[in-house]
Amino acid sequence: MTQRTQIRIEGIVQGVGFRPFVYREALDCGIAGWVFNDSRGVLVEAEGTPLQLADFLDRLQHRLPPLASITSLQQSDIPVCGDSGFTIRHSEKQAEHTAQIAPDTYVCDDCLRELFDPEDPRHRYPFINCTNCGPRYSIVTGIPYDRPKTTMAAFPMCPSCQAEYDDPASRRFHAQPNACPQCGPQLQLLQADGTPHPSTTPLDTAITLLRQGQILAIKGLGGYHLAVDACNNDAVAELRRRKARDEKPFALMSRDLDQIRQYAQISKAEEHLLSSTERPIVLLVQRDAHAISPLVAPRNRYFGVMLPYTPLHYLLLEQHFSALVMTSGNLTDEPIAYQDRDACERLNGIADDYLTHNREIYTRTDDSIVRIMAGQPMLLRRSRGYVPRGIALPTSQRNVLAVGAELKNTFCMTRQDRAFLSHHVGDLKNLDVYSSFEQGITHLQKILEWQPQVIAHDLHPDYLSSQYALEQESLPTVAVQHHHAHLASCMAEHGETEPCLGMIFDGIGYGVDGHIWGGEFLLGDLMQFQRLGHFAYLPMPGGDAATRQPYRMAISLLTQVYGEELPDIPLLAEIPSHEFKLLRQMIDKGINSPLTSSCGRLFDAVAALTGLRSQVNYEGQAALELEMAIAPNLDFVLYPYTLQQDEEMLVFDPKLLISALVDEIQHGVPVGRISGRFHITLAAMIADVCHRLREQTGIDRVVLSGGVFQNRFLTEHACQKLQADDFKVLTHALVPPNDGGLALGQAVIAGQAVIAGQAR
Ligand code: ZN
Ligand code: ZN
Ligand code: FE
Repeated sequence: MTQRTQIRIEGIVQGVGFRPFVYREALDCGIAGWVFNDSRGVLVEAEGTPLQLADFLDRLQHRLPPLASITSLQQSDIPVCGDSGFTIRHSEKQAEHTAQIAPDTYVCDDCLRELFDPEDPRHRYPFINCTNCGPRYSIVTGIPYDRPKTTMAAFPMCPSCQAEYDDPASRRFHAQPNACPQCGPQLQLLQADGTPHPSTTPLDTAITLLRQGQILAIKGLGGYHLAVDACNNDAVAELRRRKARDEKPFALMSRDLDQIRQYAQISKAEEHLLSSTERPIVLLVQRDAHAISPLVAPRNRYFGVMLPYTPLHYLLLEQHFSALVMTSGNLTDEPIAYQDRDACERLNGIADDYLTHNREIYTRTDDSIVRIMAGQPMLLRRSRGYVPRGIALPTSQRNVLAVGAELKNTFCMTRQDRAFLSHHVGDLKNLDVYSSFEQGITHLQKILEWQPQVIAHDLHPDYLSSQYALEQESLPTVAVQHHHAHLASCMAEHGETEPCLGMIFDGIGYGVDGHIWGGEFLLGDLMQFQRLGHFAYLPMPGGDAATRQPYRMAISLLTQVYGEELPDIPLLAEIPSHEFKLLRQMIDKGINSPLTSSCGRLFDAVAALTGLRSQVNYEGQAALELEMAIAPNLDFVLYPYTLQQDEEMLVFDPKLLISALVDEIQHGVPVGRISGRFHITLAAMIADVCHRLREQTGIDRVVLSGGVFQNRFLTEHACQKLQADDFKVLTHALVPPNDGGLALGQAVIAGQAVIAGQAR
């Protein structure tokens, strides 16, 4: 008995080889009918016996092409037509717009085989790709997603590439970036001054230069990397010197897992993540003995490592180098360079040579960063490989543009029950970053064919993102409290809508009482929140200056604990007496010393007190180094601390903790032990607070969010303690716990506010 069924499939199903996949499976199952791309995704009509149809449907869901993902599949029976054979119908171009564009992806195994096959026409061709792999988001200039609307428009296909492109049976059917050595992009080697290098073999020469210890700028998928041989200490030192002031760890790239195992430990979960199509940087624990330069990740127990993801990376790493440093091509705080002329200007004085090519990058995307926490991946930076994939929301909502935070900016657009979180934009105070923020919003709007109905922004009126939002005069706006947004961001990615307790710990966020919040015990849902408690307020002498100079927070804290007579510890001897006096005056008289409940600042103070770090070069450095200092494999005893109920608020007061800690400093206890005790005490305090708040509210769901929860030791210990006490713990996975995930929370809260009629 023949039946006919109509199948509607939505998700990432266009530009990822979905129609040829449907075509092949249909032929295999003996199904007649057709497949067609329309504005919502893919539409299939299939005719066959019930058994054939069941088999076909099963394959459609379980044998997806690697880049495809299905968000919905609906099926309805329709009258039989008596088709013979299966066809790919041509699309109505103008209707093809709203389907999702896929992220940029690693080079697939089929292409890799061809890359290293001497018989293949694309043997050693650095731009090989297919329907299942290659650049996507970074080369799209407009919609529909078709070759003329990508930066590949500049390369007319040769007859043989065109034939593959047109053939449904080819693995390059409708592969928009399809190219070969005859018709596609070419490598080029430039010298420091931007003029062509005399060499006629750019790749081989680049490898030789790297082996000689030179610094190369290498054009990748979403921008330029600066590369050196990671085992060459002089080369790494020179790169550090030229990048100036920057002490951030450099990322590494190695050919395969075996090479990585030479210098880092890899768990099963990490192995899986390293090899995934997204190819993120994964933070891996360093081995005790290894050949990597100590300057790659100073004061760090981890390396950030990725596997190659472009054909060019594979060619570079084919024979030499156990690892290359592949750090983003920029100066501190600037966006990664991605346009050729800009790269030559901005990396002038850093790069000795440029290994570049003539396929343009339209949207820059930094490498994504992931860390395994409690056995689960947690994204710390969500960019290349993940963007612009949609994130499922708990409910459908109006079109919201959420403009995010200021420092680790990302923005977010919602359509129905999907959120599209942007690539990592960066620090908006940098002018170039700010203009890329504006361009990024326009571009994503264009390729999603989307218009905002509401704008969400942070409550902080001075954030440049807030100002941008308030300038869009024709649209209603919703101001969202920073820590509520962190809470909602984590809830949204878990599809959680019921009220949760939120332990929201970060650096700085604008509070509704006008103080600077950052160690918050909240109760809230996607609509509203209540502050049930917080870390005790401390003056932050000099405001922003205190974030750059942790010793300021140390003095503030010591003053709280000891008053006039500060204890004799090495840190105080380091600070010039006039500066010390000035700080004391600021604190005592409240001059330029806003009050903060920040947990990040408490980490800063402890890092300074223990002599680990009194000045920082990048955000979060002191807290990171404090975590890295924890002595491994020790059992730590808690410090004393107090939780006091002040009227309506439960306040965590660290005075007892600090005096016990200072006592240990004076007795010469090593920092590894002090740091461990400090961390374990915070984890216990979290469990303690949640226990009390559960008694008060009856709620046993706990969200851990905010930048502090990038800290693995704290997060894992807090999770363990909470789970042992029967709490349901929600931590981040799909979006970062830091401000890079904030826009998602803003977007869902604004979506709810619109429903409640609260948008202004
Ligand atoms: Zn491929
Ligand atoms: Zn060709
Ligand atoms: Fe934050």
